[in-house]
Amino acid sequence: MNNFLKHFAYVAALIISVSCNQSKPTPEQKPIPQPTQVSASTIKVDINLFASPNDTTCGMPLSAGIADTVTVKGKLYGFCSSSCKEEFLAYQPKK
Ligand SMILES: [Zn+2]
Repeated sequence: MNNFLKHFAYVAALIISVSCNQSKPTPEQKPIPQPTQVSASTIKVDINLFASPNDTTCGMPLSAGIADTVTVKGKLYGFCSSSCKEEFLAYQPKK
């Protein structure tokens, strides 16, 4: 039983090390992080698709990053955060 666990741990470590190698195919990359860091929650969307090139709530340009979007009356709006979207929706006339 102990041998099985040892073998399992060895295989697991092997898989982990292999997957680590795959995620870093070129270890000689520049150590400096890129200046334009994009958070995981940022959505990559063509700015031209939006009704306004800016976050209509806070005025921030959508090119700086879009965290949330909403479609109102067939028009697409982008927002820097979901709170901006909520504020935008709060001011929309309700049917
Ligand atoms: Zn905003």
